[in-house]
Order: sequence, then structure tokens, then C-alpha cells
Amino acid sequence: MKNKMEYIIEETASPEETFQLGYVLAQKAQKGDIYCLNGDLGVGKTVFTQGFAAGLGITETISSPTFTIVQVYEDGNIPFYHFDVYRIGDEEEMDEIGYEDYFYGEGVCLIEWSERIEGILPEYCWEINIQKDLSKGLDYRKITMNKRKV
Ligand code: ADP
Ligand code: MG
Repeated sequence: MKNKMEYIIEETASPEETFQLGYVLAQKAQKGDIYCLNGDLGVGKTVFTQGFAAGLGITETISSPTFTIVQVYEDGNIPFYHFDVYRIGDEEEMDEIGYEDYFYGEGVCLIEWSERIEGILPEYCWEINIQKDLSKGLDYRKITMNKRKV
């Protein structure tokens, strides 16, 4: 059962605003935090992640690590582990990359498409969902954030 502890809804009208939201949220990130990011293809998960990484002080370019599952960035204030599990076949692939070293390590994890590895997510994590609403314009996004306990 999901126990929703905090619930925030934000609306953005441009990629820059979504980037900024990620940037601001990153200011609160601490060692061991896991951010689970979900939403359809092309909705803005990577844009959000780029802002988040910039907020952690990372200057390297963040691309979508679609073929590598995890990308490690260590030039910021804290290690940053960016996962994109869109193409993952099963959770065993996560074992193969040694995901626990990241989840329970020294840095902050952000997982695009985390719903695909629901079974191995830790007890507590930040859940972020991005959605479009075309009736409000092409660039409109609704972003919900809550801290959950599985
Ligand atoms: P995802 O990682 O979810 O597949 P991306 O972040 O790669 O998506 O791409 C999002 C696309 O949507 C980009 O081309 C971006 O410019 C565009 N976009 C338009 N409006 C927004 C918005 N409000 N927030 C984020 N991205 C937006
Ligand atoms: Mg992406």
C-alpha cells in the first residue's frame, strides 16, 4: 500500500520552467535519496533531469542513458546516478549492473521509467510524474511530486 506523505503539484509552460523545477528540487537532495520519474515518452523527464543535475552542481552534459541503464556523474556536489530503465527486460538486469551499490551508496539516484522496476524500489522514495494536457497547450506540463513509502 502506498502511503502518500507529501504531495506537490506544479505546472510548467516551457522546458525552461521544467528544468528550473528540477534545479530547485535538487537543492534538497541528500545522500541516499531516490527520485522516481515517470511519464510518457517525450514528456520532459530528461529535461527535468538536466535541471536536477545542474542543481547538484554538475556541469557535464546529461543525455538519456538509454543504452547503458545508468550514467554516473561525479563532478557535482554529490555523486549523481542517472538511470533510464525504459529498455530494461527484467529486474535481473538491474542485479547485473549492481544497482544496490547506487541505490544504497554515497549519492543521489534519479530513475527515468522507474515503474518498470517497481519490485526493487526501496521503501522510501520521491515519486515524480510528468503529464501533458493538450487542452492547455503543447508545452504545458503538470508535474506531481510526492514522497512515498511502499
Ligand atoms: P522524456 O525524457 O520524457 O522522453 P525529453 O525530456 O527528452 O522527454 O523531451 C521533452 C521534450 O518536450 C523536449 O523536446 C522539450 O523541449 C519539450 N517540452 C515542451 N514543453 C515542455 C515542458 N513544459 N517541460 C519539459 N519539456 C517540454
Ligand atoms: Mg528521457
